[in-house]
Amino acid sequence: MMSSQTKYIFVTGGVSSSLGKGIIAASLAKLLQAQGYKTTIQKLDPYINVDPGTLNPYEHGECYVTNDGAETDLDLGHYERFLNVPTSQANNITTGRIYQSVISKERQGKYLGKTVQVIPHITDEIKENIKFLGSENKYDIIITEIGGTVGDIESLPYIEALRQLKWEMGEENLIVIHLTLIPYLSAAKELKTKPTQHSVKTLMESGVQADILVCRTEHELNNDIKEKLARFCNVNSDCVIESVDVNTIYDVPNYMYRECLDKVALKKLKLKYSEPDLNSWNNFLNKYKNPKSSVKIALIGKYVELQDSYKSILESFIHAGSVNEVRVDIVPIHSEFIDSDNVHEKLKSYNGVLVAPGFGERGVEGKIEAIKYVRTNNIPFFGICYGMQMAVVEFARNVLNIADANSTEVSANTNNPVIDLMENQKTITDKGGTMRLGSWQCSLSKGSLCSSIYKSTNIEERHRHRYELNNKYLKKLEENGLIASGKNDDTNLVEVVEIEDHPWFVGVQFHPEYKSTVSSPHPLFVSFVNAAKNNNN
Ligand code: GLN
Repeated sequence: MMSSQTKYIFVTGGVSSSLGKGIIAASLAKLLQAQGYKTTIQKLDPYINVDPGTLNPYEHGECYVTNDGAETDLDLGHYERFLNVPTSQANNITTGRIYQSVISKERQGKYLGKTVQVIPHITDEIKENIKFLGSENKYDIIITEIGGTVGDIESLPYIEALRQLKWEMGEENLIVIHLTLIPYLSAAKELKTKPTQHSVKTLMESGVQADILVCRTEHELNNDIKEKLARFCNVNSDCVIESVDVNTIYDVPNYMYRECLDKVALKKLKLKYSEPDLNSWNNFLNKYKNPKSSVKIALIGKYVELQDSYKSILESFIHAGSVNEVRVDIVPIHSEFIDSDNVHEKLKSYNGVLVAPGFGERGVEGKIEAIKYVRTNNIPFFGICYGMQMAVVEFARNVLNIADANSTEVSANTNNPVIDLMENQKTITDKGGTMRLGSWQCSLSKGSLCSSIYKSTNIEERHRHRYELNNKYLKKLEENGLIASGKNDDTNLVEVVEIEDHPWFVGVQFHPEYKSTVSSPHPLFVSFVNAAKNNNN
């Protein structure tokens, strides 16, 4: 359903952060996509990092990686999981990226003779990046989410760019959804609209009128409150949308459908509304909500106290659980506190164990202990990136009897670097955007577990790493049962290891979790959950 011009829906946030702009944006996009509109989402992040690749997960949650190798905000993961359409660097803009581009243009003399200023140069750069996504005419509708909360100093240039675009494009081509919070005061037993009135006013001070309010609330909004919000905030009363807390983010599209968010947005944009086809979505939800049994999986990592650190892995388990019709209970376990004395106690009750990606020295010995335990006790094991590398170290130490086997990331001077820095990484000193990133080809050997799982011998997966399996040790590893069943054709880099004589032991150098979506759950997660289901621990 291609309209003549790409239309824009901006999503801003008011009152508080963490209201879930990304989920509202993804849910609306889902509803529009389910009516045949080609839709994508863009996230504008007001921080000064060029990308979130250098951020600790404690700061900003997981770093998500796209096919084209962009290190991005985790909201892009939600967009892909909801829409099943790949995103790219163009879908995530940061203030750092905007300034980097403007400053490099200034050095090239592109603004010769002019004073370079926030308005118009920074705002023009923001506008160009927003319009760039729409320029190829690939999309009917682009949903653009502005990070942060209205009133933040950092987001002002974005709000100004939005004001200018709204003026230039016209009301029918650009609308603004303001996501806000309606707090409940238990002492007064009342929902309060004042913070929302103030945040809409703050937005108006920058010249932007919200068209639709989406109100996060713990209690349902009655008509009086909706009317009051409409009156004070200059919006139609059907444009006050309630968003009550739900059990799972995957319920939000249905909720927004019932609240008619898609209908009012399309009306404002003068686009045709038709009934969204949510059949396959609801099929997934149905199976997810009605599991026939459950499995318990340990997620071993070092950022386990924060649920956003391993976001894509957790979501992949939801997709895989639905396919298997099981509830997947993920129990995070801190690798720093696992040792040979407590490993049995800590891991004995799990149907499967996943060792997570990671960086640096902290917690690696615990990961290695855990892998030894699951390898020798036939417990399904899934190692991702660092988890795969630690599986190689464990095997070298305990099966090949190379006591000092290690990764040079952990021990730079080990005599047995079974995991070593990739050759082309050795001269790199900059940290930002310099890893082996994005989608790379991998050939799977015929007859391997992985080729049967993928039903293919040629796959593409996304990467984010600097180290690799040292091929000098490969022959010995394989002779003893750790098989390199996946390799990159051009570089011979080992992408997958597996142990044949084990119920399910797979380590992958790539990140399958970035590619699992509701409509296309990742086969490795589906198979791992199935193996866990068959392991009646
Ligand atoms: N630290 C490892 C490397 O850089 C693994 C990275 C990861 O787990 N994403 O190769």
